[in-house]
Amino acid sequence: MPSMSPNNPPHPERWMKVCPEGLYVEPGGFYVDPLRPVERAVITHGHSDHARPGHAKVLATPGTLAIMRQRLGEGAGGFQQALEYGEAIRIGEVTVRLAPAGHVLGSAQVILEHAGSRVVVSGDYKRTFDRTCAPFEPVPCDVFITEATFGLPVFRHPPDLGEVRKLIHSLEIFPERTHVVGVYALGKCQRLITLLRAAGYDRPIYLHGALEPICTLYEGFGIALGELRPATVAAKEELKGALVLAPPAAVADRWARRLTDPVVAMASGWMRVRQRARQRGVELPLVISDHADWDELTQTLDDVGAPEVWVTHGREEALVHHATQRGIRARALALVGFEEEGA
Ligand SMILES: [Zn+2]
Ligand SMILES: [Zn+2]
Repeated sequence: MPSMSPNNPPHPERWMKVCPEGLYVEPGGFYVDPLRPVERAVITHGHSDHARPGHAKVLATPGTLAIMRQRLGEGAGGFQQALEYGEAIRIGEVTVRLAPAGHVLGSAQVILEHAGSRVVVSGDYKRTFDRTCAPFEPVPCDVFITEATFGLPVFRHPPDLGEVRKLIHSLEIFPERTHVVGVYALGKCQRLITLLRAAGYDRPIYLHGALEPICTLYEGFGIALGELRPATVAAKEELKGALVLAPPAAVADRWARRLTDPVVAMASGWMRVRQRARQRGVELPLVISDHADWDELTQTLDDVGAPEVWVTHGREEALVHHATQRGIRARALALVGFEEEGA
């Protein structure tokens, strides 16, 4: 063992390891967002690439645990422990806290303190204001492990209300056509609804059946969504000129095409890439992302002030290069298995 003197703490790379199961915190004996079932997991948020089934013990925010129970049932974890934002818990030789990540309801950064060093695992995050979750909180640290889903300077998300106004405008100029918007079930769906309400759209919003349970869960956590109606049972006639939200896969198949002359829209950070929109047959691309764009990523490096950054989960090279130029020790962390469910 290295000396434990506070002047010479063991470097975090000696106690945080990338294993086949995922990111392992050795002195605590737990993993963060493991890919395979493990004895002890700390989960940043409920998206399926982070919250996987079958762990014996799970620690997460109350919101994330509720989402996991709804989506995974029995698989949500043998023993579940809720940790509120800001509360501290000791696991082995590590002090663990959670801070808001601003990504989806319950999403958290994981703050790890051991032997005089503090490491923050961002999980997925964004800095844009979102009525459906607590805002990202920058936490000063020695090592910041950041996602980089949109880690290229070309990715700059436009203001979200502007995108929503495009949708409302289209509804006004095509009053006979059903507008079907592809949204991820967890996070994007509820955020889009709150944005529409904030922009003054107060008509009922119709939901594909796959989106209903998670909307109900959000409402249970106090997120007002206005009047929602099931789209599956609604008559075709009622849906003329109406707004229907559906999972991206449903928008791409026959489900959407049975509607009257639908306007197909999609809300995703990837809609910034025109080719992706065209490939998916999207007539109305809406660039609305639950991940930090380039400016938010670089701003966050400034805000947390970490002398060292590990980049994961996307386009690592550009952000590593940017950080290095600013005198930050930076490297790509070879974590695999993240599929950007909520992009
Ligand atoms: Zn992710
Ligand atoms: Zn996510």
